[in-house]
Amino acid sequence: MVTIKEALELVLQSVPEPEIRKLKLGEARGFTLAEDICADRDYPPFHRACVDGYAVRLSDLQKGQVSFSPSGTILAGDFDENAPTGGDCVKIMTGASLPAPWDVLFKVEDCIESQDGITIPDKNPEKWHNIDTKGVIASAEDIIIQKNSVLDIRSITALAATGKSVVSVYNLPTVAIISTGSEIIPIDQEPKPTQIRDVNYYSLLYGLQSIGIEPSYYSIVADDKQSLDLAIQKALEYDVVLMSGGVSMGDTDYVPSSLEAAGVKQVFHKVKMKPGKPIWFGVKGEKAVFGLPGNPFSVSVGFKIFVEPYLKKRSCRSFSEPVRANLQTQRTLRGDRPEYFPVKADTRNNQITVTTRPHKGSGDLLAMPETDGVALHEVENRELLVGDTVEFLPW
Ligand code: AMP
Ligand code: MG
Repeated sequence: MVTIKEALELVLQSVPEPEIRKLKLGEARGFTLAEDICADRDYPPFHRACVDGYAVRLSDLQKGQVSFSPSGTILAGDFDENAPTGGDCVKIMTGASLPAPWDVLFKVEDCIESQDGITIPDKNPEKWHNIDTKGVIASAEDIIIQKNSVLDIRSITALAATGKSVVSVYNLPTVAIISTGSEIIPIDQEPKPTQIRDVNYYSLLYGLQSIGIEPSYYSIVADDKQSLDLAIQKALEYDVVLMSGGVSMGDTDYVPSSLEAAGVKQVFHKVKMKPGKPIWFGVKGEKAVFGLPGNPFSVSVGFKIFVEPYLKKRSCRSFSEPVRANLQTQRTLRGDRPEYFPVKADTRNNQITVTTRPHKGSGDLLAMPETDGVALHEVENRELLVGDTVEFLPW
């Protein structure tokens, strides 16, 4: 049986070279940039007025002049060649280009306006007061957003500003979800006494959505070889298949044999861990299949530990390494497998502390709501004491 670390290595080694595609900017949210984005011109492209106000020459102020007569108004979008000429002052609006010779700008509300002209409030401004000079933010050809950045609210303004209407991004894999189990029913159906609502679809759905992926296929399949073969065949039209249930030692746990019959080559079956030991992972060409054990807590942990890193690597995203946290509750390990246990986390004095939450094993559906992630109890220390350091992985 492989260890958690070995299993993760095998999973990550199976990730194919990320594909690059071009997308319209409006459709690229959540994708990772496959190109550096360079400024196509200076930013701002002209001396830009930052306020609505009056522009004058600094040299006039330095000579002691305080009253000025505006010779006209420059509006945003006006061409420099049409700007009013002559005189000792112009009125200018925010976003307009300020041509020579003007080099200081005062806000309208700070000037005293009268019939004879305006009086300036400050005799000693810095040159370019209230003006963003051409190229002050970026020069043409500067890299302004680096390759491998995720397209989100942080990068969108720079991309739109540089006119990137189409961007090169790393493709997100397409994903199919199959929930197996003859007891599993859709959550909007009234369950008979022995039926169970399909929880796993929703935790996998949310997990996928958190990395910008919408599943392309979903099916609930009974523990029946034929139905399973059919669903697997359909799901293998997509890049990644996430299955839950049917990978243990039960009489109707057909998932591994059905996958192998469909040509999916097993990479590992079973990982020395708790929960989620029976996890199955295999590949078919560039496709990957995760067979997660059916218990909802095992699915959440399996997704976090193996599926998320796989998907993130495949779409060129960085994934968070576990962080060190300080355990606030004593804990005893039962059994001989490293165990992920649910915790509540807190940050105090720049240190993360975690507290165990009550948890009735991997079938405990209600163990999750009050948790922030899982911590790992390694086998070397059967007793974890208050103040011990543990690996913590936030949800
Ligand atoms: P299995 O891995 O198929 O043996 O299932 C283990 C346990 O998880 C059983 O109690 C199942 O009823 C439960 N289970 C399996 N799939 C789901 C699911 N999609 N939603 C909720 N519980 C499930
Ligand atoms: Mg089952």
